[in-house]
Amino acid sequence: MGTPDKEPRLPVRMPVRMCVRCEVTTETPVVVAVVHQNSGPGFVVYACQTCAVRYPPQPDGGER
Ligand SMILES: [Zn+2]
Repeated sequence: MGTPDKEPRLPVRMPVRMCVRCEVTTETPVVVAVVHQNSGPGFVVYACQTCAVRYPPQPDGGER
């Protein structure tokens, strides 16, 4: 029978996001910020795990 293993399958459904800091696509994106817009649902800012720990969650927030 045929072997459908030759075609390179693109990981279109993979949760790959680009890091907002180092601009590297990561397979383990971490949500570091959510931008709200007047028109539209807004968008989520992702960062890789390396940058996420250093990314300031709220630079102007007083909550601790
Ligand atoms: Zn990063």
